[in-house]
Amino acid sequence: MAGASPFAAALEAVRRPLEFAARDGFAHLGRVRELEASVHAAASRAAALAIPGDAARALAGVAARFAAPLAGEARSAAVREALATLAPFADPAWAEAALARPVTALPGVGPRRAELLAERDLRTVLDVLMHLPSRYDDRRSLAQVGELVVGHRATFVARVLLADFVAARGRGGRPMRAFQAVVGDETGSVNLKWFHGGDSIKKTVQKGATLLVTGEVRRWRFAKELTHPEVEVLEPPPPAAAGEGEAASREVEVRTTPAGRAEGPSSLRRIVPDYPSPEGLHPRALRAIVGAAVGEYADLVAGHLPDTIVRARGLPEPADALRFVHDPPQSGDVAALLARRTPAHERLVLEELHLLELGLALERAQRAAEKALPLDGATGPGVEAAIAALPWRLTAAQARAWSEIRADLVRPHPMNRLLQGDVGSGKTAVAFLAAMAAAESGAQTALMAPTELLAEQHARTLGKLASAVARAGGGRAARGLRMALLTSSLPRGELASARRALAEGAIDLAVGTHALVQGAVRFARLGLAIVDEQHRFGVLQRAALAAKAADDAAPHVLVMTATPIPRTLALTLYGDLDVSVIDELPPGRAPVSTEILRAGEGRRVMAAIREATARGEQVYVVYPLVEESEKSDLRAAVTGAERIAAALPELRVDLVHGRLDAPARAEAMGRFERGESHVLVATTVIEVGVDVPSATLIVVEHAERFGLAQLHQLRGRVGRGARPGRCLLVARASTEDGEARLRAMAETTDGFVIAERDLAIRGAGEFLGTRQSGRLADLRVADLLRDARLISVAREGALETVRRDPGLRRQPGLARAVSQRWGDRLALMAVG
Ligand code: ADP
Ligand code: MG
Repeated sequence: MAGASPFAAALEAVRRPLEFAARDGFAHLGRVRELEASVHAAASRAAALAIPGDAARALAGVAARFAAPLAGEARSAAVREALATLAPFADPAWAEAALARPVTALPGVGPRRAELLAERDLRTVLDVLMHLPSRYDDRRSLAQVGELVVGHRATFVARVLLADFVAARGRGGRPMRAFQAVVGDETGSVNLKWFHGGDSIKKTVQKGATLLVTGEVRRWRFAKELTHPEVEVLEPPPPAAAGEGEAASREVEVRTTPAGRAEGPSSLRRIVPDYPSPEGLHPRALRAIVGAAVGEYADLVAGHLPDTIVRARGLPEPADALRFVHDPPQSGDVAALLARRTPAHERLVLEELHLLELGLALERAQRAAEKALPLDGATGPGVEAAIAALPWRLTAAQARAWSEIRADLVRPHPMNRLLQGDVGSGKTAVAFLAAMAAAESGAQTALMAPTELLAEQHARTLGKLASAVARAGGGRAARGLRMALLTSSLPRGELASARRALAEGAIDLAVGTHALVQGAVRFARLGLAIVDEQHRFGVLQRAALAAKAADDAAPHVLVMTATPIPRTLALTLYGDLDVSVIDELPPGRAPVSTEILRAGEGRRVMAAIREATARGEQVYVVYPLVEESEKSDLRAAVTGAERIAAALPELRVDLVHGRLDAPARAEAMGRFERGESHVLVATTVIEVGVDVPSATLIVVEHAERFGLAQLHQLRGRVGRGARPGRCLLVARASTEDGEARLRAMAETTDGFVIAERDLAIRGAGEFLGTRQSGRLADLRVADLLRDARLISVAREGALETVRRDPGLRRQPGLARAVSQRWGDRLALMAVG
């Protein structure tokens, strides 16, 4: 039964005979055979599951009541009472609420521990259940003290030879007290040290006691030692050896294992899970808390993964999977556990991804049902003429992306498509065709860029394409695509008249920043919104734009991104979007070579600039600009520009940065594009969109401060013409991540490989940035990188589920699970 927890199934087995007996006003009661025996057996089975005490007690009560044969009135009364007792537990909401109980519902968790757990986002019982071990200690094979290896974790049994406080040096050489024990077996001895918590350790680690010790072995001076190891007392010291013998024997722990069994020293040889634990909570205490959660709640957890996937992959039920990961059997494969590659891990990961993908699929379905203006012009002769009039032929990848977009645009439902393509792959040209299609259909297009500079550049590039097409004539294109640039730095009068023209329908394509969607801007007939670099663009802006669409219809939306994302990841990140990929660069692109330079190699930089400009080529020099040090960064760029101008007086050096006003910036960019200036020194503003084919050299200062995606974008500024490009990355400081980024840049120019490296270096959360991390930070069990291969499995399962049961009307439990897990986020996404 997909979707049912072991508890739900077992409870059903108790209730079925009871309900049958109660049917038609107990009319058949006398004829039900073996009622007591079957209810007793089923209730006993259910009571023994890993479920909370209240449910277990209710079931045990029913079992007791039906332990012996009943007759007449007593029989029907027992049936009636049993049904009444069990009714609340049969409501699926009960199990959901039980799993949502605060952690304080678990034994051993009071307000103080609850606070510590909350630091790790462990607030409910379910959170604790899903808090998977980050590591496992293999305590099946015990080491001998004489064979401990420095730098490795080990578990061994040893006797305490000496134990006392000693003088030690704390941070900065401050004298402090540490608790130290010398422990040993017949092969040797080793030191254990605690720098804090000594007073409580003192009670456990007593001379003469036998301990089970686990920890990392380190070298200290000439000896080996373990600091803050985990210790468990296997045998207390003999009474004579310990002055406080009585107290010591009370310290012998009888712990509770996840299954609720008492754990004595004989079962200590096992694989022990190790959890990321908050400061101040002993790993053993956290283990006990997780153990209690598993022992009392695991069988309430329901699985939602389609049976076909469960069977095909041979996966355990979620409850069994939880038992396995939290308390692996003796026979467990530690390597597989450590890699999280057991069927149990897979089940839990797939359960989580499946719910996520279902949420995305539902959201998509909801979007697809909205209305939009069909842009029939997309298949008309005007666009065909425009394609023919472009200065080059579309690449095969561009043509494919365009045909996918075209098919969307003519439908009466909004397109929501991501156009993904490496820097320079020709996305702008495809966006241009979409804008032409809208114009040919009598609808307007809004193109939004994240910065004014980018908006200005888009306006220039699109303007060039538009005039090339207009010169060739044909269709409405004969009149030319009527464009306007709307940014907040436009003179007031100009902005006002552009807005008026937009409202009157005298503009086909408006290019701008958010100013475009703010305040008084109105469109006569908005049909298409193109958003550049979506990850910098808020959901709310997309929503605001949708509100400006014509006739109650949502606009078609095309999102362009030059941040290549591995496809499986893109499908999940932008699960609400369809994806088109331009995976090919226009022909004739020259290769770009990349070199990493260090501080002190300024001469080589200057020489490279001289060589390139001597060949009549142009040069970018880029400085980072981070907000908190904006002033000094700006100064670095200014100084850099001055130094180059002084060293190469025959060259024209221009400087652009975000503080320049728009006209000054446009002038400088214009001079560079027309080849009137030779060197363009810039803060990161040129990151995206500049297109000057005769620029062949880019120097990136403080390259270690740029993200990998940014570096890739910057490098994409050169090698756009027929002449080979060169990229000099000047590293002025060294960090591990920084070096990894620079190495990746030197090794490959493939944007997809770079994106994967970036993901590996930064981890999914950071890689995804603002909007996406908000959505996915919540993944508890799955890791988008490690579990990439499971994303498509979950996705296909989810699509199949939705295909069979759109809206999940026949599976209310599943629908509830999705909305409980992702509800807030899905609501947010639905706004976009
Ligand atoms: P992107 O926006 O993907 O970074 P652009 O659209 O700015 O790329 O295109 C990069 C450069 O390639 C521009 O100079 C553009 O004119 C040129 N280009 C685009 N498509 C083609 C093509 N099919 N053949 C040749 N050059 C092209
Ligand atoms: Mg571009």
